[in-house]
Amino acid sequence: MEKLIYLDNAATTAVKPEVFEEMKPYFLGNYGNPNSVYTFAQESKNAVEHARGLVAGMLGTKANEVYFTGGGSESDNWAIKGCMQAYASKGRHLITTKIEHHAVLHTCEYLEKQGCEVTYLDVDENGLVSLEALEAAIRPETVLISVMFANNEIGTVEPIREIGAIAKKHGVLFHTDAVQAFGHTPISVDELNIDMLSASAHKFGGPKGVGFLYIRKGVKLGPYIHGGAQERGKRAGTSNVPGIVGMGKAVQMAAEHMEEREKQIAVVRDHLIERVLRDIPYARLNGHRQQRLSNNANFCFRFIEGESLLIMLDQKGICASSGSACTSGSLDPSHVLLAIGLPHEIAHGSLRLTLSEETTLADIDYVVDELKAIVQRLRGMSPLYEDFLKSEEGKKAAE
Ligand SMILES: *Cc1c(COP(=O)(O)O)cnc(C)c1O
Repeated sequence: MEKLIYLDNAATTAVKPEVFEEMKPYFLGNYGNPNSVYTFAQESKNAVEHARGLVAGMLGTKANEVYFTGGGSESDNWAIKGCMQAYASKGRHLITTKIEHHAVLHTCEYLEKQGCEVTYLDVDENGLVSLEALEAAIRPETVLISVMFANNEIGTVEPIREIGAIAKKHGVLFHTDAVQAFGHTPISVDELNIDMLSASAHKFGGPKGVGFLYIRKGVKLGPYIHGGAQERGKRAGTSNVPGIVGMGKAVQMAAEHMEEREKQIAVVRDHLIERVLRDIPYARLNGHRQQRLSNNANFCFRFIEGESLLIMLDQKGICASSGSACTSGSLDPSHVLLAIGLPHEIAHGSLRLTLSEETTLADIDYVVDELKAIVQRLRGMSPLYEDFLKSEEGKKAAE
């Protein structure tokens, strides 16, 4: 395998070399515990607080509203479980959507077992939540609305500003899982009325196992991890200093030339979409055509199993995904594709390709050429496709 084309940036991204360089001293020389009193540890403490400032700057907020965590899943768990516990005297109802990441959905299912009530909003055929349905779902005992900023499978970007306005109007807290959006799109938590926001470093060029939860001042969230007094008593455990430093650097790099970078990625992504829809019959694009992440393309190919597609692409050095990394390995079709109304047999033939700024037009041409051949080969082995062709011929003959 000479070539490796990595098109699974929604699952994780490469750590940027500059990020790695920034982290290195905090493994080797500056290993002090940021909570120790001696001068040697000050360097670690300063580095952690510098990173906090960078994250806060990106969100247009203050550093004391940013709490470092072990990643996106932890942030989602903390925000949702923490809120439902802290505001139990107001009520036990929360509103989310059917297309959230499992870090949100499984947390909600857990809370239902604990006696909470959860409304799972439907989405339309493009993956957008309905603002009318959202507003209609709000009750006096509703504590929280949790809607993802952008979907990790189909890339659809939700109407976050409008959702924030509805939440504010009704005095309901608003959490957003922004793991796919943060670092790729500008986010001002004040303009968008976001009370809590989850993000994860490894989705924007930082290391794995570190993220943050933004918590607006005044939101009464208790600690999720109990222990020491780190993170102002809200998240115990010795800080992951190299990870936090790396995330800070990744934030800084993501902020530089964000608009140009995302535009350029979208140009390459659009070339991919155009070529696939033009060159491969019975293919469809999933997700909203305009309101979508600049690096996301998600297709369904009729008469194809997504898993077989992935294995054959892998043999050509192409890393892709079917559904999300978390559901790969199970035969259940993606809950997101079912929620946009696709029947099981079509949802099974899905392929997600997520680009980075490193992806070139030439990479895309190579991938589409290989994909086209693979789809042809797989369909050639499919009795369903054979039947379909026969019935199509029959229809033509009858005309
Ligand atoms: C990746 C992802 C997560 C989980 O983040 P981790 O840091 O891997 O725990 C949560 N939500 C979304 C939308 C994601 O894409």
